[in-house]
Amino acid sequence: MKKDLIDIRDLSLAEIDELIGVAEDIIDNPSQYSDKCKGRKIATLFYEPSTRTRFSFESAMLDLGGSVIGFSSPTDCSVAKGESVADTARTAECFADIIAMRHYKDGAAFVAASNVNIPVINAGDGGHNHPTQTLTDLLTIHREKGTFDNLTIGLCGDLKYGRTVHSLIAAMSRYSNVKFILISPEELKIPENIKTEILEKNEIDFAETDSLEAVMPELDVLYMTRIQRERFRDPTVYARLEGIYILDNEKLNTAKSDLIVMHPLPRVNEIAVEVDDDPRAAYFRQVKNGKFIRMALILKLLELNEQERVNGNFSKPSKLGAESFDPSIIRCDNARCISSIEQGLEHLFVKTDNGYRCLYCETKAHKSF
Ligand code: ASP
Repeated sequence: MKKDLIDIRDLSLAEIDELIGVAEDIIDNPSQYSDKCKGRKIATLFYEPSTRTRFSFESAMLDLGGSVIGFSSPTDCSVAKGESVADTARTAECFADIIAMRHYKDGAAFVAASNVNIPVINAGDGGHNHPTQTLTDLLTIHREKGTFDNLTIGLCGDLKYGRTVHSLIAAMSRYSNVKFILISPEELKIPENIKTEILEKNEIDFAETDSLEAVMPELDVLYMTRIQRERFRDPTVYARLEGIYILDNEKLNTAKSDLIVMHPLPRVNEIAVEVDDDPRAAYFRQVKNGKFIRMALILKLLELNEQERVNGNFSKPSKLGAESFDPSIIRCDNARCISSIEQGLEHLFVKTDNGYRCLYCETKAHKSF
């Protein structure tokens, strides 16, 4: 079976440990990895703006001795002529060994992965998931705190559309005695499916608040996020919420001395520049970690898929099994889901204990059945 990385839960805890181990070895011995991907290519298919994710994927492949093709905007290629995600991915497969895709629609990378025989890495799909940011975050937590257990993690800002938060919760929920404090205004609370399917289902300790000041002293990790302007349908709502949380030195004074402040970046105004000089500000160290963990991931996926090919087990993933097909349902209610623009996605829903769920974006289906 082909291995992709679409959701952080596609990796077991043992695989995450292994990736962190390899990333740390790369940090210590970079020259030993400098031609591991000689002759291999990554295609970076970026339909949405990116600085760190694309730079780090591209430098990861270059530092492994490989090369890079791709686009950084959908206006630079046949997407502008109306080409589908499936066809663009199939084209990239003719030239590259692995794909990293960022898209503004939830579930897009999953569609790409279902259509090609090379590994696909989700480099951010709409407001849904961002598993390689989470790997970066995990490497950062590991290097800064030395453990994933017994941590109180504050996630602050746009918890509704912040895909990095969704993936980080899914990842950190698998470690022991982790507590989440979810800090957001009412309008930007964590999506219901994450609360029920991850936090409540796994009996994870969590609390919701709108006050950063009130919880600051409790935190071991503070994960700040940007309010995701591009995901708002109504700009007046964004205008009302912009600047709602600003971390400054005054607030940081009440925090633990070994707190770490993380941010997937870019920041808009949610961390005052004065905070950058505080040793607890880990966000630029976090950026650096992104390249090393992506190097480890590229190596792992290429190696695993090569093994599968040699063993004759290689096939396209078929998460879209017959039992998940419900022909009476033809549309996902999430307007940001890839199924709203891509043709041929009829197998949209799986049955769960709580009703139907879209396969691509995990949104609950609200239509009558
Ligand atoms: N760079 C992160 C992302 O792509 C965070 C952000 O854009 O706010 O999701």
